[in-house]
Amino acid sequence: MSKDKQFPEGMIPLGKDPFSFSCHPGVPCFTICCKKVDLVLFPYDIIRLKKSLGMDSQQFLTEHVNLVKGDNPFFPTVMLKLGDNDEHSCPFLTEEGCSVYDDRPSACRTYPLERAVDRTSSMGRPEEFYFVAKHDYCKGHFEDTQFTVKQWVRNQRIDDFNMMNDLWAEMDTLFRTNPWKGEGSGGPKQQMAFMACYDIDGFREYAGSQQLLKRFRLTKDQKKRLVQDDMELLKFSFEWVKLFLTGRSSLVQK
Ligand code: SF4
Ligand code: SF4
Repeated sequence: MSKDKQFPEGMIPLGKDPFSFSCHPGVPCFTICCKKVDLVLFPYDIIRLKKSLGMDSQQFLTEHVNLVKGDNPFFPTVMLKLGDNDEHSCPFLTEEGCSVYDDRPSACRTYPLERAVDRTSSMGRPEEFYFVAKHDYCKGHFEDTQFTVKQWVRNQRIDDFNMMNDLWAEMDTLFRTNPWKGEGSGGPKQQMAFMACYDIDGFREYAGSQQLLKRFRLTKDQKKRLVQDDMELLKFSFEWVKLFLTGRSSLVQK
């Protein structure tokens, strides 16, 4: 960690220090945090959730998502649609707890930690920091079990989410530059970029109909993985969006 790094007041990165936390059906606040929750969904969250629910990405977007104006002025923010009940609970919450636990979104699995990535780090590579997010209603902080960040990331299986969310952060940064100039938000380019990022099954269909994979130098093995694996296809779709918006990408055209 850079010694001279400045953080907002009250935010102290954890480093290697352990923190106390445990969440289980015995805590008095069990499932309280799954109600009235503002949950932003990232592209990889949707891949995992739609798989868990046995639906395709188009169906997931229709049933479970609201598009709102967030902090990116040139791209919508994707939020989980909450239940239309008094508690405004997450639609995946049951009396026993989370029904999509193995595939729950990044924010749910990272909590009580929050992750920040410094891409301008003097270390020559992005540096990540974790902070403990404390809410008065959360009694998990008073449990005896202790974790280091490393143990928590392993325990909650956050690695794939972090990797994919870092790739998404690059896309989000690109979208903040208003790459749809002339078309405005909601124009054909933005709609295409939205599909490629959030509707992986729609993008697979599009890629098939346009024979997209044939246009790039890809090994047989790479093509096979792209056809079968949503995560691999999402990495490809990010690079494809970069290419059509900026002319630059890691994809090599034939
Ligand atoms: S996905 Fe699961 S953990 Fe996250 S808010 Fe919904 S029920 Fe709670
Ligand atoms: S409020 Fe904290 S301890 Fe309670 S259920 Fe949510 S994460 Fe677990």
